[in-house]
Amino acid sequence: MKKIALIIMSLILIIGGMSSAVMAGDIAMEAGTYSGKAQGMNGEIEVKIKVSEKEIESIEVISEDETDGITDSVFEEIPAEIIANQSFSVDTISGATFASEGLIEAVKNAVKKAKGIAVASNEKTKEIEEASEQSYDVVVVGAGGAGLAAAVEARNGGADVVLLEKMPTIGGNTKISGGGMAAAENWVQKEKGIKDSKARHIKDTLAGGDFKNDPKLVTKLAYKASDAVEWLRDYINVVFEDYLFLFGGHTAKRSLIPEGNTGYEIIKKFRSKADELNIPIKLETKAVELIKDGDRITGVKAEKNGKEIVFNAKKGVILTTGGFGSNVEMRKRFNPEYDEDYLSTNGEGITGDGIVMAENAGAALEGMQYIQSYPICNPITGQLSYIGNTRFISTVLVNKEGKRFVEELERRDVISSSIIAQTGSAAYQIWDQNIMDISKVGENHKAEMNYLLKNDLLVKVDNIKEGADFFNIDDEQLSKTVARYNKFAEQGYDEDFNRRGDLIPIKQPPFYILKAVPAIHHTMGGIKINTNAQVLDKDGNIIPGLFAAGEVTGGVHGANRLGSNAITDAIVYGRTAGQMISK
Ligand code: ADP
Repeated sequence: MKKIALIIMSLILIIGGMSSAVMAGDIAMEAGTYSGKAQGMNGEIEVKIKVSEKEIESIEVISEDETDGITDSVFEEIPAEIIANQSFSVDTISGATFASEGLIEAVKNAVKKAKGIAVASNEKTKEIEEASEQSYDVVVVGAGGAGLAAAVEARNGGADVVLLEKMPTIGGNTKISGGGMAAAENWVQKEKGIKDSKARHIKDTLAGGDFKNDPKLVTKLAYKASDAVEWLRDYINVVFEDYLFLFGGHTAKRSLIPEGNTGYEIIKKFRSKADELNIPIKLETKAVELIKDGDRITGVKAEKNGKEIVFNAKKGVILTTGGFGSNVEMRKRFNPEYDEDYLSTNGEGITGDGIVMAENAGAALEGMQYIQSYPICNPITGQLSYIGNTRFISTVLVNKEGKRFVEELERRDVISSSIIAQTGSAAYQIWDQNIMDISKVGENHKAEMNYLLKNDLLVKVDNIKEGADFFNIDDEQLSKTVARYNKFAEQGYDEDFNRRGDLIPIKQPPFYILKAVPAIHHTMGGIKINTNAQVLDKDGNIIPGLFAAGEVTGGVHGANRLGSNAITDAIVYGRTAGQMISK
């Protein structure tokens, strides 16, 4: 097996003031280099770590015997996360749990040799004993894209800010997303001469939301989008690819893609910025209730390790806890159609906490019945399929009968309900090596690709018949469908479904067929806000001291969110909340 030697030097700046740091000053390690071993899925994993008295500085994977591809992200992301958080409470990589746990165990064993025994054996001892009452100017609840943007802006506005996150790691749905960000008149459009306008972005977003959106919120979203994405690039240091995606419902290629087509790039860079700005991030700290003094919100009650902590907020609280896609009961309360039969693409922490807290404090809610499923997801786990992003380049979606049944770039809700109506409520997506190369999904999402291949959800075949037989699709009809699509590609017009975007023929072997189902993806409804991200009560009055941004809010996306408008929403309104609250 290949020997991987990967050094993650303190990629993410750790600074002394980071409150979640492993060592917390009271458990000094013996500075030096140590090795540690543990069992992975297929064999032993060995690591070498370098530690100072206070922290783990680098983790090098000396040897491992895991499956190539599937585990690449384990050996990239987990060491980076351990270093960033100075904690072993990091997420394991789905599809590679044993490798993830083995790697964490190996690092723990190395830390034990550095006499950080208490740290390695009992995670809880690492934590600073949190004071049961703490005071800041601003408390931000939820460390996804919106919360991080809000915290950074509040800090730069001069506020003493703290960021609470209930999970062991930051990032929320933003981290597990593809990170696509719609912004009309962006620099890539200018470089490539793509015509677009902010007015057109507004029009697409309103039409995509069935005009149930608040037009003022949409206008701000579109007008602040290119500023926001330049801020991410120039100030937060997010690296963007030099191409754009055309997501369903948009009428121009206007969506920027962070490096590697993953929101992890955004979160990683935010983490560095938060450290640089000395913003404390309290992990495993779950906000449970807003504190009110008269009409004004003055803080948050939170829980950590079963203990209550009061966070007072002189200037106010910003709720950025995301949507409620992982909360089945809440989904059913607002829209009984989306019951337990639906898998979800969401992280487990996305349970609507901020919406409930705000509602209890008198906030109005908006559009709660609007729940979106994403059409192309893993039929076993519900995870959104990035391999399926070949759809945005050129692809046909067929049913078991081998026939196309929907325009592949239709809105997510339309594609999802069309898939549900097909035999077996599943769809099959077909593309070729040329489209694979153009999309780069194979390179960018190796772990997912290997998982899908291994679990018979994706096949790579020399001819279409072989793939059709594998999934028991009508092979004659499928060949006809692909030939017809190729004819449309030649003539530049899709007579059957009028597919938007490029039409590239599917003819260069090997061919790929992916099986996919829809899963719950985004909850459009949430807390009602104005364009200053201030929370409104049921009479339309501002609730003093309460702001909200990102998926926790309602009104921006109406009945349906267009792809890549979510990150734009989180960053635009997260920034707004942070700027307004610190004024
Ligand atoms: P957005 O895109 O709106 O920023 P995300 O899903 O990316 O939303 O992030 C929301 C974050 O809020 C997640 O990291 C989630 O774990 C966190 N969160 C949810 N509920 C709470 C809570 N009660 N207390 C603290 N953090 C929370």
